[in-house]
Amino acid sequence: MICEMCGKEVPATKPVFIDKTKLNLCGACAKFGDEQRESKGTAQKGPSAQAIENRLQNRERRMQTRDIYSQKDSRHLRDDYGDVIKAARLDKGMSQEDFAASIGIKKGMLSKIEANNMIPEDKLVSRMEKALGISLMENVTYSGGTSGSSGGKMTLQDFIRRE
Ligand SMILES: [Zn+2]
Repeated sequence: MICEMCGKEVPATKPVFIDKTKLNLCGACAKFGDEQRESKGTAQKGPSAQAIENRLQNRERRMQTRDIYSQKDSRHLRDDYGDVIKAARLDKGMSQEDFAASIGIKKGMLSKIEANNMIPEDKLVSRMEKALGISLMENVTYSGGTSGSSGGKMTLQDFIRRE
């Protein structure tokens, strides 16, 4: 869940009223809420406008970063890249040695990649795609829907993992 004040991603948010507006906030921001203000006694006079302003600016920054990030990362390696590479390689009648040599990597590295035990870097991915005539990337839409090519396998876990 995303805190509506600072934009931080937290496991759970808390509904808090600030100026009669209900916001779902993270623990750190929740203390600016009206509920806490009343119980705090006389020392503090409630949320300082400046502190809230700072957090809102934080959120703005985070949201911008997120957008840039998600656009850049809208294509990502498919989950079953290892199987796809292996199948395409066998299809071409190439041994692991041959194929590894043709794309300039060690055989051991290729077998790790084919076993899904190693994520190849982008440059290597495109080299393999070209060599085998396959596509190892899939498009991801971040709006909740799927692009269709990923088979709807994106879950919340994927988002968290990639943060
Ligand atoms: Zn927050």
